[in-house]
Amino acid sequence: MDLATTPDAGPHALPPSCDFTVFGGTGDLALRKLLPALYHRDLEGQLPDDYRILGVSRSDLDDEGWRAEVRAALATHLDPTDLYDGAVERFVGRLHHLMLDAEDPEDWDRFHALLKDRPHPEEAVRVFYLAVSPTLFGAISQRLEEIGVVDERARVVIEKPIGHDLASARAVNESVGRVFAESQIFRIDHYLGKESVQNLLVTRFANTFLEPLWNSQWVDHVQITVAETVGVGGRGEYYDHAGALRDMVQNHLLQLLCLVAMEPPTYVGRETVRDEKLKVLQALKPMTPADVDRDTVRGRYGAGLVDGAAVPSYADDLGQTGSTTETFVALRTEVQNWRWAGVPFYLRTGKRMDRRASEIVVVFKAPPHPMFPHAEGVTTANRLHIQVQPDEGMRLHLTAKEPGPGGIRLRPVSLDLSYATAFEQRLPDAYERLLMDVIKGNATLFMRRDEVEAAWAWTEPILQRWAASPERPKRYAAGTDGPTSATLLLERDGRSWQEPDQ
Ligand code: NAP
Repeated sequence: MDLATTPDAGPHALPPSCDFTVFGGTGDLALRKLLPALYHRDLEGQLPDDYRILGVSRSDLDDEGWRAEVRAALATHLDPTDLYDGAVERFVGRLHHLMLDAEDPEDWDRFHALLKDRPHPEEAVRVFYLAVSPTLFGAISQRLEEIGVVDERARVVIEKPIGHDLASARAVNESVGRVFAESQIFRIDHYLGKESVQNLLVTRFANTFLEPLWNSQWVDHVQITVAETVGVGGRGEYYDHAGALRDMVQNHLLQLLCLVAMEPPTYVGRETVRDEKLKVLQALKPMTPADVDRDTVRGRYGAGLVDGAAVPSYADDLGQTGSTTETFVALRTEVQNWRWAGVPFYLRTGKRMDRRASEIVVVFKAPPHPMFPHAEGVTTANRLHIQVQPDEGMRLHLTAKEPGPGGIRLRPVSLDLSYATAFEQRLPDAYERLLMDVIKGNATLFMRRDEVEAAWAWTEPILQRWAASPERPKRYAAGTDGPTSATLLLERDGRSWQEPDQ
C-alpha cells in the first residue's frame, strides 16, 4: 500500500506510527515552530506511544542535551498554561539527537542505525523535515536514498524559499524529485494551515449565499495585505538576497489569492484543490515591463517609530548602505478568466509597517442607484473582511438603518465571526495541522511542484524589470502604511486600501 497517498482517515483517527526526523533540529524553525506544534499534538493525545522525533544537526549534543534545549524552547514559545510537567517529560522522552553533518557522506550509517533501532521499523512512517538551508535539500535527499530509507512510507517536507527564481526553483524540485515521488514531497506554506484560510474554503464551498456574488458582476476588487511590524532582525543576509516579492508575494500572497479566486473543485481533495489553484496562477495577467512600471510599487523602510519605539532604517538593520532590496511591495494584477475578468486584485506586503495583520478584503460593488436621501458620505459597498492573523475571523460589512426617529439614516455595521469567541477553543497553530497532515499523507494544503513553478513564472518578469530599472525602492518611514505610491496605486483607480477601522 502506498502510505504516501493514503487518504486522511478522519479528524479523530490516530496517525500511523512514525519517526519524525527534523534536519536542523537545533535551528530557529525547529525550536520555535515545529517542536512546540508537535508538543501540542502530543498533549492532545494524537501521537502514538512509539512515535519518535529525531533531531539532526552538527551540534555536539546527545539526547539529554537536545531535550534540555527543547524544554527551554517550549517554555519560551508556549503559553505557560499549556505546559504540564508530565506532558513535557513524556514529549521530550520521544526526542533523540544525532550529531551529523549533512554534507559529510561518512556519517550516514549512524542515522540508518537510529532509524532501525525501534520496534517494527518496517511499519513506521518516516518523515524527513528539511529545516535547513535549501542548498542542502539535494544532498540530504541523495544520502537518504543511498542508505535505503526512502520507500513508500517516506515523506519529505521542504520550506520556502523554494528557489530564488524559476530556474533555481526547478533545480530544487529536480534535486528532491530525483529521490522522492511528487506524492511524497510536502512543500509547506504555513499560511495554508491557518484556520481562517481553511475556513475561506469552507465559507465559499459549504455555503451557497456567496457563490452567486463571487464574480466580476458583483465584486469590485479584492485586496490582500500581509503587514509585519518587525524588521529583518537576524535574517538580514537571507532577506537582502530575497526581498519582499520573493519572500512573501511569490508564495504566501499568491496562495491566498488562489484560494479567493479558485473555482469549486469537484471535492476537496489533494489533487482537485491544487488543480484549481494552478489554474488561477496560470490565469494571472502576465506582467510586461510597462505593466511592472505602472502596476507595482516597491519600498524600503527608513527609521521611524513602531509601537512607540524608535527603530532603525533597513540599511542600519543590515549594516550596509548599498542594498537595493525592497522590504515593501504593492501591486495590481488580474485573474484573466470568465469569473474574474476585469476585477483588480491588489496585493500588499511590507516590514516595519504600522500594524501586524494578514487579511483579505473582498469589496463588493456599491448599489447601482442611490435610493436613500441624506446618505452622502456613507459607504454602501459591502465588504467581506477575512482576518488571517491576528484574531482570526471574518467580518461582513453591511449598511443598516441607524435606530430611532427622524428619518432614515444609514450607518455601516458589521457581522462578526471571531473564531476565538464563536468557538471558544484554542486555535491550533498552522504547523500543528500541517505536520499531522504530513504524517497522514494528506497533501491538500501543500504546494505542488507545478504551482510553485507557475508562481515563479509569473513573478519573474517583475524581478527582471526591477533589476533592469535605474529606479530604487521608495523610502517609507517605519511605522507607516508604506510609500505614498502604494496609496496612489489604488487612488488612480478611484479606490483606497481598506484599513481595519473602516
Ligand atoms: P537556522 O536557525 O539557521 O537553523 C539551521 C539548522 O540547520 C540548525 O539546526 C543547524 O544546526 C542545522 N544545520 C546547518 N548546516 C547543517 C549541516 N551541514 N548538517 C546538519 N545540520 C545543519 O535556520 P532556520 O531559521 O531554522 O531555517 C531553516 C530553514 O527553514 C531555512 O531554509 C529557512 O529559510 C526556512 N524557513 C525558516 C523559517 C523560520 O521561521 N525560521 C520560516 C520559513 C522558512 P548546526 O549549525 O548545529 O548544524
